[in-house]
Amino acid sequence: MTFEKLVEVLEKAAKILEAHPLCDFCLGRQFSSLCYGAGNDEKGRAIKFCLIMHAVAVHRETGDLPDVLKHVAATGFKPAVKTLQMLGGEIPEERPCYICEGALSRARFRDLAERIVEELREYELGSFVVGARVPADVREREDELRARFQIELGEDIKEDVARSIGPIIQKRLGVPVEYQNPDVVVLVDVFSNDYELQINPLFIKGYYRKLVKDIPQTPWYCRYCWGRGCEKCNYTGREYPESVSEIVGEPALKIFEAVSYKFHGAGREDVDARVVGTGRPFILELKHPRKRFVDLSALEKAINENGRGRVEVSGLEYSSRRELRLLKELSPIASKTYEAVVEFDGEISEDDLRRVEEKFRDIVVEQRTPRRVLKRRADKVRQKRLYYLEAEKIGERTVKFRIKTQGGLYVKELIDGDGGRTKPNIAELLARKPIKIDLTVVEVEAPKAAAREKVLEESGED
Ligand SMILES: [Zn+2]
Ligand SMILES: [Zn+2]
Repeated sequence: MTFEKLVEVLEKAAKILEAHPLCDFCLGRQFSSLCYGAGNDEKGRAIKFCLIMHAVAVHRETGDLPDVLKHVAATGFKPAVKTLQMLGGEIPEERPCYICEGALSRARFRDLAERIVEELREYELGSFVVGARVPADVREREDELRARFQIELGEDIKEDVARSIGPIIQKRLGVPVEYQNPDVVVLVDVFSNDYELQINPLFIKGYYRKLVKDIPQTPWYCRYCWGRGCEKCNYTGREYPESVSEIVGEPALKIFEAVSYKFHGAGREDVDARVVGTGRPFILELKHPRKRFVDLSALEKAINENGRGRVEVSGLEYSSRRELRLLKELSPIASKTYEAVVEFDGEISEDDLRRVEEKFRDIVVEQRTPRRVLKRRADKVRQKRLYYLEAEKIGERTVKFRIKTQGGLYVKELIDGDGGRTKPNIAELLARKPIKIDLTVVEVEAPKAAAREKVLEESGED
């Protein structure tokens, strides 16, 4: 067996060191994929040892002192310096690593890791990952060196940082590394000897019920002062004093010691509509939480105490960004069931109601953007399916409707017709004007069920 491949490696390493001093990490990294299970600094040291031993062997045989010994000593590699001393050679001045300028060092990695561990102790976390920032000039020097010496076995400099710091954190905190959805991303910059923690948000899903009217889903600011406070809003800055978002979010913010939160509802009801039944699905996003492992039944209790019988949540579970995407994508198409108690301007007969039920069985409603939302929404015609409508007379002029529709159909306009912008509509069919509409959401289809429907729709099945 000959060792010509090893000779090639050593010759290349000697040429590189002749051109530039490289630290153990930066030399080893150029040959990284020749060995597994070791740090690049160990690989760099192995190569430097081989170069020294070869030089000494040459010296024994010929009496010459090969220059490579000086080049290795110039990198600050102690065994090379000692060997040169023993052989009576001239000791060169130590020069910093050409690529990293000395930033890669075990001592610095350890020190940074300790500082990171200290700060991370303030957070509950289930996983983390280490990323590295590398300045452009460092990359440029390495790229140029790799092109010049035709290096194909190298590794990214980021790996040196992640591999050196990650295991220390893992061991000290007993938390695993996860690449897909880590709770915390540690961004390390060994070049400025600093780091940054990116604490990823936490997601909690559940259902809310709104048992009273006049609570908007999210804070509704005064339209005159936009929250600053003015005469019109009695200096509260608000149109309504509370919101579902705050009733749910504030207790969670405290319990999880988060910095802020964002409430994502699966659609929203009118401010004067109730939500009963299972409730409306939502996902609460908690930003920069210190706690992650909280018993959600305690949270549910805290929220429901805060809601004081006006807003209630149930079915709380830990969720994810993926589920949030699903919620946003699918809630517009999820079906809703409403109960509407409507008072008309004249008597309604049972016959009228049977006609309405007949007419509104599994039809497509054409709806131009309602006038009341025109300011916020583009003016266009939407086609929405209405699955069924049940009507029950509960007074001379009062009717209770139960209506199941595809998501996105404006139910008030289905009832009053919105000046002919919604067709067909109940008011027109009854030839009566509604005077009062009391709307309640009794069911919102969960995103998962909506997803199944969407798949069926797309594959053309019924
Ligand atoms: Zn280096
Ligand atoms: Zn105001």
